[in-house]
Amino acid sequence: MRAFNFSAGPAMLPEAVMQRAEKEFLNWNNTGMSVMEMSHRSKEYMSVAHQTEADLREVMSIPDNYLVLFLHGGASMQFSGIPLNLTQPGDTVDYFNTGVWSTKAIKEAMRYANVNVVAGGDVANPTEIPDIATWRFSPEAKYIHLCSNETITGLEFQEVHLEHIFAQGKPVIADMSSNIMSCPIDVSRYAIIYAGAQKNIGPAGLSIMIIRDDLVGQARDITPSLLNWEVYAQNDSMFNTPATYAWYLAGLVFNWLKTNGGVEAVAEVNTRKAQKLYGYIDQSEFYSNTITPSQRSKMNVTFHLKDSTLDSLFLDESKAAKLLSLKGHKAFGGMRASIYNAMPEEGVDALIAFMKQFERSHSNAMLSV
Ligand SMILES: *Cc1c(COP(=O)(O)O)cnc(C)c1O
Repeated sequence: MRAFNFSAGPAMLPEAVMQRAEKEFLNWNNTGMSVMEMSHRSKEYMSVAHQTEADLREVMSIPDNYLVLFLHGGASMQFSGIPLNLTQPGDTVDYFNTGVWSTKAIKEAMRYANVNVVAGGDVANPTEIPDIATWRFSPEAKYIHLCSNETITGLEFQEVHLEHIFAQGKPVIADMSSNIMSCPIDVSRYAIIYAGAQKNIGPAGLSIMIIRDDLVGQARDITPSLLNWEVYAQNDSMFNTPATYAWYLAGLVFNWLKTNGGVEAVAEVNTRKAQKLYGYIDQSEFYSNTITPSQRSKMNVTFHLKDSTLDSLFLDESKAAKLLSLKGHKAFGGMRASIYNAMPEEGVDALIAFMKQFERSHSNAMLSV
């Protein structure tokens, strides 16, 4: 029996996708070989690659003047790729610092450009997006970078923030590794959207970039070819061997989304899942969540047990109940339930039922002391 896996990434994939991959594993489309064994230059693989891009374009309504690149190196590689492709030495760039992933992006960008931190960075694990009144954009900035969902704390930018950022009239770049395709968005408001695959897209080893075409072709001379977006664009993301199997599986996930009502339908389920879980945590005396309620992530729900000495028992018992990988990131402690698109609503129901039962047994124990 498969368990409900709350891992932050690599994360659970839709069961229907896994079954289809299993069915096609040894013999894809009567070719007599697995997708994993095909030349990336073959007609067969090209059809897989093109269909994957077409389905992603459909699922996210990507405008024609945007390119879709399939890259190596995870989202982290683009922390360097972005300044290398978009700045020259001495240029200034705007970054929000709302958590660990933003901090990492800033650290890389500082090697190449002057980073102006628009807001944040004063506390280790922010639990809120700094007040808009405190934001300080740089008039010279070449672009504005943000991490739209901080995966470790579960802190997500809201529409009110984004409106203010887009209003600056600068290219806006978003690391959407942990919330891409979780709800409908207007791609045309962004200059670049990028994401590692292993959260809401597919297996690790692949990252995806959606980029407005005028931003390609300005990389610094020193940029390694495999970090240069123009090289990817000119070679259909096949300058060297791409992560072929991860690319194929991402395609199955896009197809699954497409045939299940698209991002609109999955967004409704995501909202329900998150509301249920936060709702339960908020009414409980036993668990708590410290993120500003209106900015809580719909994908990564963090919570702490009031009595942290029960943490390891909670993890042992939840694992025995087939609820996996609930341990929070070490930087933030406590628990984290990542409830990406592939997590069925029943998984969240099962988690809440377990949390209730655990609370009941251990609140009694506390009372009887
Ligand atoms: C996981 C994650 C990353 C890092 O992804 P890699 O693919 O490991 O480089 C970057 N940003 C965010 C928001 C993430 O959740």
